[in-house]
Amino acid sequence: MGKAGLPLTENSTEQMGQGLPPHLFQAAVEQSPVAISITDLRANILYTNPAFHRVTGYEHCDVAGHNESLLSDKRTPPQVYHAMWLSLTEQRSWSGILINRRKDGSPYLAELNVAPVVDERGLTTHYLGMHRDVTELHRLQSRLGNHRQLIESVINAAPMIVALVDEKGGVVLKNPAYLTLMEALGSVEPAHLMLGTGSEARQSFGDREIRIDSLGGRPPRWFVCSATVVQERDEEADSFFAQQRHEYLLLVAKEITELKHQQEQMRVNSLRALVSEQEKLGTLRETISAAIFQLQGPLNMLTAAMGMESRRQGERHERSTSLFNALHSAVDAGNEAISVLEGSLPRLVDEPLVPLNINQVLRDALGITTERLLAEGIVIDWRPSPVLPVICGYENQLRAMFKQLIDNAVDALDGQNPLERSLMLTSEIRDGEVCVTIEDSGSGIPEENLLKVFQPFFTTHSGGDHTGMGLAMVQETVNRHAGVLRLTNREEGGCRVFVCLPVTAPQLCETYAKELS
Ligand code: FAD
Repeated sequence: MGKAGLPLTENSTEQMGQGLPPHLFQAAVEQSPVAISITDLRANILYTNPAFHRVTGYEHCDVAGHNESLLSDKRTPPQVYHAMWLSLTEQRSWSGILINRRKDGSPYLAELNVAPVVDERGLTTHYLGMHRDVTELHRLQSRLGNHRQLIESVINAAPMIVALVDEKGGVVLKNPAYLTLMEALGSVEPAHLMLGTGSEARQSFGDREIRIDSLGGRPPRWFVCSATVVQERDEEADSFFAQQRHEYLLLVAKEITELKHQQEQMRVNSLRALVSEQEKLGTLRETISAAIFQLQGPLNMLTAAMGMESRRQGERHERSTSLFNALHSAVDAGNEAISVLEGSLPRLVDEPLVPLNINQVLRDALGITTERLLAEGIVIDWRPSPVLPVICGYENQLRAMFKQLIDNAVDALDGQNPLERSLMLTSEIRDGEVCVTIEDSGSGIPEENLLKVFQPFFTTHSGGDHTGMGLAMVQETVNRHAGVLRLTNREEGGCRVFVCLPVTAPQLCETYAKELS
């Protein structure tokens, strides 16, 4: 504090008052709302104004000649007085807070300003004391501080993520859960990922599920978030009357990754059951189709023989021979067997053409095959395109198709050196189409079989579950989606299957279904 003594000389009073009458100063002191006292150098009270009486309850006659310590509650630490007196003896003013006691014994907090009064010789002659009751102000400040501390403790202890974002997108409050997530994201602000960056980033919303993928190859994490706009009055002096407000967005997010995993597991399990059912029906269709195919050959020969026998009879003008009758009966019986088999072919279930994200379909196909992949010790190198446009597709058929291609790749890796087994799955956008590549490091397909593998019932495996209908089904599914299918051998060994499907606006799926059918 600088020198702040009050020089009480006639000259200086005139200079300060610029010709104002001296009694005006006395009137001002008398009528001041602040409790004012003037003491001698030992702090014995010489003068008190009416406000002193209002604040302390003491009349002037009660305190005149008494030390100011009369007001002391005796709970103010001695160091405070020591500091006050040190300032005064060095002719510096001092201000601080003391616990005082009124005449009626009630305590109050006094914000005291004391200053030395200096004469023309530079000597301190008196002390001037001014104080006001700040008990209520202190109570409010304490309450505010307590509230703030309580809120901070609750926010810090909360298991959910809490952050406050200002108008410029700066995150001005982060609780420990938020900071932990931020660390896991490599210092990326989670609030920016959860709120977005556009104009919608400043609006309230509730219970929005958000998936965060950018975790350096780690599995995605899910959060349910809500944002609430909160307003704060500007604390700056220049907006005291203008009432400016600042807007913040309070973000609260709860991690639901575990719940999502459980839901996903349940979904994959039901998909697995669905695919297994589809596969059983498919196998039945393939078996019956194979039986029809097998019957068709000899039946064609019998029909041809019957035709030859019929022509021979005609040339010789013979009546119907027993051979002809036998052939006729055999052909009839064969045709009847084929129509019975055709009638027992399980019907394909009609499914709607819906907007799909191929990454999700691939993820489902992988989810269904996970157990097999784990059992075979195969780790998939899964490289999905981060963003894929929607395609219109038959979800079940596409899922079954990709599962078939993954199964084929896993079959091809069977018997390979475990260290050389690799299976790579890629999705990308190519020439405006969504393309998927499935590559394996298996033995590949002999060049002469590269086209034959798409023929129904062609298989290089003997016995077992292999009916040779898998790639025929894949080809049919790609055709149904007006897509492109390519199968090649890789230079480094193994096969590369390449499926491209056209992109269609989601709202056009219905129209597109009519075009495809
Ligand atoms: P004290 O024995 O009075 O003083 C404690 C310490 O203060 C001493 O050890 C000494 O280091 C120092 N000290 C005391 N008197 C002097 C002195 N004359 N010169 C140098 N050092 C000294 N106190 C309140 O509690 N409430 C008030 O509202 C209040 N208003 C005051 C207004 C004025 C204008 C002045 C000058 C003082 C005021 N005081 C007030 C301080 C008061 O005079 C006492 O110093 C204080 O109350 C402590 O009293 P005490 O009896 O506990 O100790």
